[in-house]
Amino acid sequence: MSETAQKIHLIIKRQKDANSDPYTEEFLIPYRPNMNIISALIEIQRNPVNAKGETTTPVVWESVCLEEVCGACSMVINGKPRQACSTLIDKISQPIHLAPLTTFPVIRDLRVDRQRMFDALKRVKAWVPIDGTYDLGAGPRMPEKTRQWAYELSKCMTCGCCLEACPNVNAKSKFIGPAAISQVRLFNAHPTGAMHKEERLEALMGEGGITSCGNSQNCVQVCPKGIPLTTSIAQVNRQVTLQSFRNFFG
Ligand code: SF4
Repeated sequence: MSETAQKIHLIIKRQKDANSDPYTEEFLIPYRPNMNIISALIEIQRNPVNAKGETTTPVVWESVCLEEVCGACSMVINGKPRQACSTLIDKISQPIHLAPLTTFPVIRDLRVDRQRMFDALKRVKAWVPIDGTYDLGAGPRMPEKTRQWAYELSKCMTCGCCLEACPNVNAKSKFIGPAAISQVRLFNAHPTGAMHKEERLEALMGEGGITSCGNSQNCVQVCPKGIPLTTSIAQVNRQVTLQSFRNFFG
């Protein structure tokens, strides 16, 4: 292997803070087998020297679990939104282009603020209410068939890849996005969570609710957890329609 072949070539879109203009900086870092994007970024952090040999600031990114569960390390890798922890250098083409998700405000470099996703979960009450903090005993059992698909929906890690891929989530739209809609389906199916079913559905009737979905179906293609988002959207759309009839006829 030549000297160049033993290097990993990264082209990173950087930004000093939320109000600065973005710029690109290139890095050539030593290759090791089985590296992921996070280990390449750690290498830059350890030795922040760019491809021109200039000392620079370490690239900032966010990560927590390193096993595709927390959703924090989402970024655009070679044009596709995905997780930096589960993207292996050996499996993607070089040069590797890294950029922050465009749907969320940039905090610095590859780190973004996903607050709008957590606000969306609050809007639809994506939780099972409890009456106090004392032991309530075992809850009602779910039918096994329901539990199986509900478990798949519960794998959502609010990573934001589905919002990034959706053409209807942008600065001009208040669309809540596929992830929160899928969580409405999950919590409405729960025997105790169903107590807030009407409130969740009504939250999706307003501006930026389910009618803002343009059915592009991009979300389901990028979800790293394989969540059937378009099925969830169709199911919740039906629930919202039935709820609006119920509201109309009192
Ligand atoms: Fe990420 Fe999938 Fe959840 Fe969207 S639905 S936030 S892509 S895990």
